[in-house]
Amino acid sequence: MASHETFMALALLESQKALPACLPNPPVGCVLVRNEQIVASGYTRAPGEYHAEADALAKILEPMTGLTAYVTLEPCSFHGRTPSCADELIKQGIEKVVVALLDPDPRNNGRGLKKLCQAGVEVVQGVYAEKVSEFLETYLYQADSDLKSNDGSHE
Ligand SMILES: [Zn+2]
Repeated sequence: MASHETFMALALLESQKALPACLPNPPVGCVLVRNEQIVASGYTRAPGEYHAEADALAKILEPMTGLTAYVTLEPCSFHGRTPSCADELIKQGIEKVVVALLDPDPRNNGRGLKKLCQAGVEVVQGVYAEKVSEFLETYLYQADSDLKSNDGSHE
């Protein structure tokens, strides 16, 4: 029986295809699974184009019932250059969302998962987090980057 880790590992592989076109957005991967079968996969496209979740959802032509989304990063909760992925997953009736990492971006940072929970979507977080973090961490919002750039900048 395939585990959460198996599918998250595949989402991680997908996410590696996002570079370098996705930058400065983090390279995220998503696989959509039904009855332990992958029905679609996607990754972050160029800024202003599909995020990983939307990229995968766009490939599904059949009804979206009984789907679990495996996403390497928490779906975005805010409308930036593209609509919010959390809203899109809810709109499409996703049943379950499994994420590896929370998005440290202060515009998101737990809000995406909260939104999904409040809409009745089952949420699992922290799956395969260590491996995903090794690849993804350097591309994520760095909370302390302002402090670092101020260090020793005036003599
Ligand atoms: Zn998004």
